[in-house]
Amino acid sequence: MASLAGTAPMEFSRVPHPAPVPGASRQQAIADPGFGRIFTDHMISIDWDEASGWHSATLGPRVPLSLDPATAVLHYAQEIFEGLKAYKLDDGTMALFRPDANARRFNESAARLAMPALPEDTFVEAVRQLVLMDSDWFPDVAGGSLYLRPFMIATEPFLGVRPAKQYKFLVIASPAGNYFKSGSPAVSIWVSRDYTRAAPGGTGAAKCGGNYAASLVPQAEAIQRGHDQVVFLDAEEHQWIEELGGMNLFFVFDDGSLITPPLSGTILPGITRDSLITLAREEGLTVREERYSIDQWRQDAASGKLTETFACGTAAVVTPVGRVAGHDGEFTIGSGGPGQLTQRMRERLVAIQRGAAADPHGWVKRLA
Ligand SMILES: *Cc1c(COP(=O)(O)O)cnc(C)c1O
Repeated sequence: MASLAGTAPMEFSRVPHPAPVPGASRQQAIADPGFGRIFTDHMISIDWDEASGWHSATLGPRVPLSLDPATAVLHYAQEIFEGLKAYKLDDGTMALFRPDANARRFNESAARLAMPALPEDTFVEAVRQLVLMDSDWFPDVAGGSLYLRPFMIATEPFLGVRPAKQYKFLVIASPAGNYFKSGSPAVSIWVSRDYTRAAPGGTGAAKCGGNYAASLVPQAEAIQRGHDQVVFLDAEEHQWIEELGGMNLFFVFDDGSLITPPLSGTILPGITRDSLITLAREEGLTVREERYSIDQWRQDAASGKLTETFACGTAAVVTPVGRVAGHDGEFTIGSGGPGQLTQRMRERLVAIQRGAAADPHGWVKRLA
């Protein structure tokens, strides 16, 4: 793997777990893993400070962190993360999907949160080593994957407000089943009127925990009103559709074209979003990255001009939206169930991720 010019690839010291979870318990845990509930035996840890830069890269047992109560991340939320999956290809090889894109985005998030950049090849190598070490945790259930969570926290004990001078990069792994047990049913979404996710100049394009903390109340409101997810409008005019709490949106029209909100700085640049734009354009479909308003959405759904809407992200891949509700009433999209293009896009992406379809862009990185 290429390293940054002039620097040697980072060496990881390996400390195997002295008492890993016994095979029988592990098999029981991964038979029905759910999502984000169980974790593998090991983790990656790399430290950063001003004097030494990145150092002490370790693949070791997954253990609780011991942090001084004054640790900066606990007070000012200087934290970023990524989410990607290791898949098992049809020939049994473990593979990652576009990990280089996650590494690049991680550094874009780091720059916004005043955190140090991590060499992209170190990010990918860290994930690779953890997956190979804990490959016995791969859940052999339909749609199963090993979900990887790389993240970085400010570890300096200091209450002054400035970028911290010490950081820790960690990667943990979590066996995951199919996000939706029975395929992917259409979800119902609630349009938030009282809350926004991101403002111009804010952190909306960075994958940071703070964005999620701010989305919990509006997401809980959506659930309380009987919906699955919240959809956010723009912070300035309250009319342009942005995204869900953790998924990007696509709108499908009766002429076969698609619209997805543009990367204006308030939307998270999803790798699934980018992949789907590429796949759709390859099929000859027109994809416009354009603003689309809530009023237009309602009008187009009523006239039949809009035929489908879907959300996308690594965790659930592609999820149809069947119903939309807000303070001004509600509307149904198409028949209210999964649309044809939505299902086709999902199948095409999953086939590439699983090694069952050609991969002309070199998105799939085999790990062994
Ligand atoms: C991670 C994330 C997405 C989806 O990104 P993918 O790279 O496709 O997984 C979308 N929106 C938000 C807010 C996110 O945090």
